Amino acid sequence: MKPPLRITVLGSGTSSGVPTIGCNCSTCASTDPRDNRLRPSVLVQYGGKNVLIDTTPDFRAQALRAGIGRVDAILFTHSHADHILGLDDVRPLNYHQKMSIPAYGTSGTLDVVRRIFRYAFDSEPTQSSVPRVDLRTITDEPFELFGMEVVPIAVMHGSGVTLGFRFGDAAYLTDHSEIPADSKLKLRGLDVLFLDALRHRPHPTHSTVAQSLASVEELQPRRAFFTHICHDLPHAETEAALPSHVRLAYDGLTIEVSA
Ligand SMILES: [Zn+2]
Ligand SMILES: [Zn+2]
Ligand SMILES: [Zn+2]
Repeated sequence: MKPPLRITVLGSGTSSGVPTIGCNCSTCASTDPRDNRLRPSVLVQYGGKNVLIDTTPDFRAQALRAGIGRVDAILFTHSHADHILGLDDVRPLNYHQKMSIPAYGTSGTLDVVRRIFRYAFDSEPTQSSVPRVDLRTITDEPFELFGMEVVPIAVMHGSGVTLGFRFGDAAYLTDHSEIPADSKLKLRGLDVLFLDALRHRPHPTHSTVAQSLASVEELQPRRAFFTHICHDLPHAETEAALPSHVRLAYDGLTIEVSA
């Protein structure tokens, strides 16, 4: 029996979150808690370690809501604002853990992190506290993290590239418009696959519900969860039209996978 891996959805929403500021649509006005979506992130737990994928602008609220008291590593999928802007909120974790937190991303992603959070990386003396992260460059080569092989999965996000991550039989692919053929080879035999599914209408940098259903059909995971969802998709109504092994993720959803 392999040790279990637990994935908790910290945020299932698109970049602006749901409800969206200034919008009164039925999803934004919904009282179904599953229609309340913070920015996209998951927590992956195994072997007593907490691995955070992306630090969203909602990270503080997400950590408090999920009771996260420790983060052992951060994996960045890419450098868009909705995936990195909460990095400053790791400061209390630095304080409690008495350590800098390792943070992994491609060289392009880490360059943006260094630029946006320059105050955390320059050598200027400061009287304020700054987030302390130990940036570690990765490519799409697998790497070892706390005794598990993590497989980065390169996917197209419009003309850019983002990384998804596979841990054992689970994979998380947020922002993408296309999964290249060589990346599909890394997504076989999955128990659980998370996929970007922004909305029904086509989008230049995101997968739609129909496109992600086609990916599920092709890759044949046992279960799939759609995430990075915008207010075009009310939870209950959208999920009712999906096959039973494909669900919409929602904030707070926790699933267990054998690693
Ligand atoms: Zn995004
Ligand atoms: Zn709305
Ligand atoms: Zn993005």
